[in-house]
Amino acid sequence: MKPDDIHRAIGILREETRAWRTPSVTVVAEASRSPFKVLISCIISLRTKDEVTTQSSARLFDRAPTPEAMEGLPAEEVARLIYPAGFYRTKAEQILEISRRLVAEYGGRVPDSLDELLAFRGVGRKTANLVLTLGFGKPGICVDTHVHRICNRWGYVATKNPDATEMALRALLPPEYWIEINDLLVAFGQNLCHPVSPRCSICRLSDLCSRVGVAQSR
Ligand code: SF4
Repeated sequence: MKPDDIHRAIGILREETRAWRTPSVTVVAEASRSPFKVLISCIISLRTKDEVTTQSSARLFDRAPTPEAMEGLPAEEVARLIYPAGFYRTKAEQILEISRRLVAEYGGRVPDSLDELLAFRGVGRKTANLVLTLGFGKPGICVDTHVHRICNRWGYVATKNPDATEMALRALLPPEYWIEINDLLVAFGQNLCHPVSPRCSICRLSDLCSRVGVAQSR
């Protein structure tokens, strides 16, 4: 894919993804406009199916919608509320630690800088960028496994890991697409450009895509 092709690619993705389910963290963000809920649901979502994330987040936020309410809960209760999210016991500890620090160090508010967010245990670049983009509407590029895989398949970037993809996209991707690229490519990756055997025969991006590393497709 040539750099200028990105405008056509985004236009097609916007049309295609309208029919697909919105990723769970975006559902939380749109419903709440709360950086705290985006942060916590993003932690719940790691290695967890979208349906589970949506339900676990709803149960937890019904009980504790703020850091102040969350920090008072016992770890076993947080774990029970987010079960069966992957690593639910570890995540319960992380959620409580984050909530305590937010209350003690930030007056119960989530910081809106990448560096401060990355200083919390359990918060990586993907989560920090999602909090900035979905929670605060600030510029950031959230690169997860779908964004990394698809941008490399297109031949838009040539990188070895998601962090390198984020850096390459920061240099290459027009800023107007930074926030939405994650939602578009997560939906596209879950529904069409699958990790194994993508559905290239029905893909409207096939004439733009170099299919780098695609050994098997449908
Ligand atoms: S042509 Fe295949 S590899 Fe390329 S974006 Fe479409 S589904 Fe993915």
